[in-house]
Amino acid sequence: MSGVIFYREQDADPRVLHEQCVSVIGYGNLGRSMALNLRDSGLPVLVGNIDDTYRRTAADDGFDVLDISDAVEAACLVYMLIPDEAIPGCFSADVRPHLRPGQAVAFASGYPLAFALLDLPRNIDVLLLAPRMLGEEVRRTYQAGEGFFAYVSVEQDTSGRATERLLALAAATGCLRKGAMPLSARQEALLDLLIEQTVGPYLGTAIQLAFFLGVEAGLPSEAMVLEMYMSGEMSRTFQAFAEAGFMQSVGWHGAVAQYGGFVRTLEVDREAMQRMFSSVLEDIRSGGFARRFQEEHDAGYPTLGAINAVKKAGNPMTEAEQRVRAALGG
Ligand code: NDP
Repeated sequence: MSGVIFYREQDADPRVLHEQCVSVIGYGNLGRSMALNLRDSGLPVLVGNIDDTYRRTAADDGFDVLDISDAVEAACLVYMLIPDEAIPGCFSADVRPHLRPGQAVAFASGYPLAFALLDLPRNIDVLLLAPRMLGEEVRRTYQAGEGFFAYVSVEQDTSGRATERLLALAAATGCLRKGAMPLSARQEALLDLLIEQTVGPYLGTAIQLAFFLGVEAGLPSEAMVLEMYMSGEMSRTFQAFAEAGFMQSVGWHGAVAQYGGFVRTLEVDREAMQRMFSSVLEDIRSGGFARRFQEEHDAGYPTLGAINAVKKAGNPMTEAEQRVRAALGG
């Protein structure tokens, strides 16, 4: 798959999966969108799900829904769409024992493949088709005819047709209308986790620190949240990175913003940031982060429980957002 920057629709032969049953395992955020897209593209789709509300939603959407093990047995291609950290347990209990030689299993994230969390049989194809889009948007952009970006790779090719199968699957999800970039599961996992754990925390911390500093200095809290994200100016700035280019979009701002932003960027403690980013990368690479996150899952998500409690508790930023929404009529 080397040398290609993006696969597009003309690179796929949809006949490769003609009348081949795809079993979507997990009918959550991404599972529902993918199942609907694949069915609308003409593929026979089954849903494999545990007995829960998602299972009823899938049945209401007109799918035949089976237990996961039965859906695996019935499929030519299995698309694993349950949460990353739940995949190892589900795979060893309900998927692996029911796989046949020659089947293909696809994943929507490199995480379970990158950190040796799965015992993969040698006689199946293993594929990665990881959308770079939120679950609901995967459906909306399919219906709008736009598609979405994705990363794709063949992690194991025993059939000799794994790339053709991957591209036919990608075409049926709709992502080739936009473009699918070859990236190994290991690279996809490192990339995803690195950005989530470096850019994400710095942006979040900067927004919170600026909010409390501004409010302490007498600025209205409603104006602070409006300035930083509710007006849409900041998200437009990110959009400008994509449309005009990261450096070129600087020109979209006035001289005051350009001058102020430039001189303050020079004052940032880059060495401290660099140290933190490097140690985060090392922790991800070594598998340390994945090991701790699997422990978090096995222990019933104690840290995610604490995060949820913080989200629900009253917070000056949340209250300011509510006042802005109320003032604008909801
Ligand atoms: P969801 O949390 O929305 O999906 C959950 C589905 O998996 C539900 O049907 C859920 O049932 C089921 N499930 C959860 N735990 C288990 C388990 N132990 N055994 C069997 N079924 C289980 O997940 P997402 O759609 O967010 O993510 C699915 C995959 O797609 C992941 O690999 C993720 O990284 C990837 N992805 C997701 C994107 C997104 O926008 N959501 C974007 C790109 C990739 P229940 O809740 O009842 O347990």
